[in-house]
Parts: sequence; C-alpha cells; structure tokens
Amino acid sequence: MVAKRVQEKMTSLFLLNCVDLKSLPPATDPWPPAAATATATATTVLQDVLGELSDATAAEIRTDTDAVTLASTDFGTIVSSAPAAVFYPSCAADIAALVRASCASAYPFPVSARGCGHSTHGQATAAGGVVVDMPSLGRAAARLAVSVEGRYIDAGGEQLWVDVLHAALAHGLTPRSWTDYLHLTVGGTLSNAGISGQAFRHGPQISNVHELDVVTGTGEMVTCSRDKYADLFHAVLGGLGQFGIITRARIPLVPAPARARWVRLVYADAAALTADQERLIDLRGGGAPVVAGLMDYVEGSVLTDYQGLIGSWRSPTSSSAFFTEAGAAARVVAALAEEAGGVLYCLEGAVYYGGAGDTTAEDVDKRLELLLRELRYARGLAFVQDVSYVEFLDRVRAGELRLRAAGLWDVPHPWLNLFLPRSRILDFAAGVFHGVLRRDGVGPVLVYPMNRDRWDPDTSAVIPRDEDEEVFYTVAILRSATTGDGDQLRRMEEQNAAVLRFCEGAGIPCVQYLPHHATQADWAARHFGPGRWDRFVERKRKYDPKAILSRGQRIFSYPLA
Ligand code: FAD
Repeated sequence: MVAKRVQEKMTSLFLLNCVDLKSLPPATDPWPPAAATATATATTVLQDVLGELSDATAAEIRTDTDAVTLASTDFGTIVSSAPAAVFYPSCAADIAALVRASCASAYPFPVSARGCGHSTHGQATAAGGVVVDMPSLGRAAARLAVSVEGRYIDAGGEQLWVDVLHAALAHGLTPRSWTDYLHLTVGGTLSNAGISGQAFRHGPQISNVHELDVVTGTGEMVTCSRDKYADLFHAVLGGLGQFGIITRARIPLVPAPARARWVRLVYADAAALTADQERLIDLRGGGAPVVAGLMDYVEGSVLTDYQGLIGSWRSPTSSSAFFTEAGAAARVVAALAEEAGGVLYCLEGAVYYGGAGDTTAEDVDKRLELLLRELRYARGLAFVQDVSYVEFLDRVRAGELRLRAAGLWDVPHPWLNLFLPRSRILDFAAGVFHGVLRRDGVGPVLVYPMNRDRWDPDTSAVIPRDEDEEVFYTVAILRSATTGDGDQLRRMEEQNAAVLRFCEGAGIPCVQYLPHHATQADWAARHFGPGRWDRFVERKRKYDPKAILSRGQRIFSYPLA
C-alpha cells in the first residue's frame, strides 16, 4: 500500500524537485544523471528500491511536499536542494537496508543523514536522493542509557546534546566537552568536531568519544573504537558524514558541578584579549602564568553590535545582556567603544563549582579575586553572574526563543567559521574585525583559542597545519540577514569572500570549520591540502566506494574520480 503510494508520487515529485534545485555548482556529477533517458531510468530504479524498502522495513517513506520541503534546506536557508524522498527509520537496521539498496542499485542514489538540519549550506541535503530523518530513530524510545559504573552514556546519533546533559545529570554526571548551543544532534556535531569554551582543556567533542555504532556507505553496521576498527572510528569523527552514519555514540562522563560563576570582561583591543585568553588556556604546567587553567570555559567575542538583539542572542538576558544590568557600566562601554573606533572585545569565561565536582564556592571566590586582579581588561568593566550549571550550558536557548518570538530565527545565516594560527590572529583582527566586517554587525563574532594537543590527528577533522604552533584560534562570524531583501545576504556573502581573500592576500593559512566549498578541487586544495586529502579519499574508497553518503557536502560524486 505504502509502496504503491510512493510509486505514484515519485514521477511528479521528481519533476518538481528538479525545478526546485538551486544554483550551487556541482562538485562533479549531479544525481540523477543529466541525460534524459538515464534520468528516467534512475528515477524508476529509485522508485522500485523505495517501494521494496517500504515493504521490507518498518521505516516510513514520504514523498509529500511538506516532508520534501523541510528536508530541502537547513538553518542557513541559503541553499535549497530537494530529495526525492524522506526516510524515517525505526532502527539502525532500516538505515543499513536503505544504504545497501542504494549500493546494489544500478544508479546508487545519494543518502544523507539529517540531524536537525543545523547546517548552513545544504550539507544534510540529498539532491534527488533520500534524506534520512535521524530524529525518527528516537521517537519510540529515548535511546539514552547511562552507565554509572562505567562513567559513560550511550546516546543515539539523533539525540540532542541537551537531552544527553539531562540524562547524565540525573546520575550526578556530565559530559566534559560541549557546543555553545545544545539543541544539536550527537551525530551532527561528531561529524564536524563539536567545539566550545571547554575545548582548550578537554578537546572538541570528537576527542571525547569511546565508541561508535556506524552504518557505513556499504550498508554494514559496525561498532568501532580506538581498539576496534580504529580507522573507521577516526574516519567518522569529523568526517562530514562521508564514511558512515552514526547511530550510537558512547560518551565519557565525569562528576557534574552544580553551578557556574560566569564572567564577562571588556577589552579595548585584541592584543590584550588574546594575550589573556592564551594565559588562561596554558596547560603546560611548569612556569605557566598564574591564571593558567583557572577557568573551565574560555571564549571571547568582538563587540560591534553590543546593544542589539541579534548581536546578543547568545546571551541569557534581553538586549545588551550583562551590560544592561549596570546602566552606568553600559554608558562606560559605549564611551570606550567610541574611543576604540567602534570595536571592543569581550572575554567570556566560567568557573564551575559545587555538586559532585571538587571545587567549592570559597575556591571560586578566591579564583575570581585572582583572575580579576591579574587579567588586563578595562578596569570597571567586569560583569559576573552566578547561575546553575544547566543554565550556563543551555544559555543560547533563551536567545533562540527571543529571536523566534521576534521572527528573526528562520532567516538566512551566511555563517563563516575559521581556524587560524595563533601567530596571525592580530593581523586577522586588524584586517577583518577593524576592516572588512566593520560595515555590517548583525550577529555575534566569536574569537577564542584552543590547544592543538587536545585534537587527535587521526580523526578527519582539519585544523591549521603548522604543528610548531601549539595554539590555534577559532573565529566564528555568525551573522543573520534580517532585512528580508536579498541585498543584505549578498553583501554578507561578499564580505565572507572578502575575509577569505584577505587571508589569502596576507598569507594567513586559515581553514574553515563547518566547511563549505563549491568544487572538489577547492576541497582538496583549500580545505584538506596534500596528505590529508589523500587520506580522506582513501577512506572514502574504503567505507563509501559509491559515494552515497552526505553528498550535500559537495565533496564527492558517483563514480568516485
Ligand atoms: P545536520 O545539519 O543535520 O547535518 C550536518 C552534516 O552531518 C550533514 O552532512 C549530515 O549528513 C551529517 N550528519 C547528520 N547526522 C549524522 C549522523 N548521525 N551520522 C553521520 N553524519 C551525520 N557547532 C559547534 O561545534 N559548536 C557550536 O557552538 C555550535 N553552535 C551552533 C549554534 C547554532 C544555533 C547552530 C545552528 C549550529 C551550531 N553549530 C555549532 C554547528 C553544528 O555543530 C553543526 O551544524 C552540526 O552539523 C549540527 O548538527 P545537525 O544534527 O543539525 O546536523
């Protein structure tokens, strides 16, 4: 019955989908193949495959406009690329059956896992193929199991980190490494890296995984870890969905603190901010600076739009967040901004305490006294809040709800995230924060350092190459095009291109985080570089030889070149 419905709708939908496809240049071959007869054959093959699957698995398959439209785009709302169908698996075996069916078919069609579609450039789309709706794995049961004795949580790849947090906290435990926003899926962030202010100490989320269940591009279901199928384990972590679909991750847990002392310090220049950030994240021991390691979380941001809702959406309270609490201080901040040419910086840090952790409130008071004495922020501009651990970790949610209420969440997000070497961060600040970006605020710009030795070079994640530099920076330019006219979006995209041109011209070797590139040549040269690209391709041949998975990333096409 379902199979028949699928077949009836396929032909008309397929035509509709072809019209919907927007103008990203293909990595190499598009799917379905372009020639008219081949297209017709490919469509028939896909109809047959889906028809058989809907009889053989418990998965639901939908081809209606609502399902297809939702799976055609993402948080970025910049790219639209329609699948032929959306697949709602009830278990990992359903996904394996779908991938095997694609593999076995004469026209291996694209299959992309979609967590929440929080990507910005169509990475979770599958043009003309099948999008796997990962949340449907968790619909029947929560798929979160804590082992108190083993100090880990088994989380379905579709689970949201906020739910992982609450499940672990029920046992007084917590993961160590986070993203700023917790309403992202486990599989989605592990396919990138998963970074936030804890990464300097604990590494990204991909450095905090014991074991994975994966459905490979050949439809095999494999449990892998550092000891078992280690190459697949490392390939999938940071692998941009290219080698397997993560259906379960085992994440280590530690005793959970109860509260966070949350600090924001205003700086008039980038040199003072970055010097302090680097002192705070220095974990070498020995002659390390007196403030080294005193914070559990270290981030920072560029303040150009510190009064606006969009500019402060990552903050817990409305408008200018911390600064409005002290009206006089807000005026001082504004005056300092004027003096500094309109660009200020903010160091954001937190110290955890209480609960099952071993830091007490008295320890935090002492630490804070030392920090506020030693750090070189603009005196008088230190803002401190005491919040629960959950409030701190889930801090971005309040901003999301405010933006949703104002109709400013579902707007285009031309985000650009970069990793760059420590030695060039001030050149970057001068050229970009005080140059290219001065013209358009409209969104937070984050800047914070991380320690290279907390990243496992065997994973697929790409960080700056220069291994002589222990520290590298992330810069996240998280802008929203809010005016509704295409001009603002185009201007922001042009500015992103100008940022990349500036780096190239100034010889700043940056790589993108949450990367997007238009052609395979760009992926090879600009993102991976020699050596790393060869390994990535070799892994692709091994685990997804028909280039079925996550083709929305626009890295590979079928057949593999
Ligand atoms: P999707 O967009 O659904 O998918 C992303 C890619 O991963 C696609 O290629 C998809 O095919 C693949 N994929 C999805 N699920 C799986 C799976 N189970 N197995 C294999 N591949 C899969 N990132 C950070 O690191 N730190 C942050 O602080 C941070 N903050 C963010 C805040 C907001 C508001 C947003 C929108 C994003 C943020 N991100 C952050 C980026 C986020 O980590 C990525 O967008 C991530 O991909 C989101 O997960 P998702 O499940 O929505 O992915």
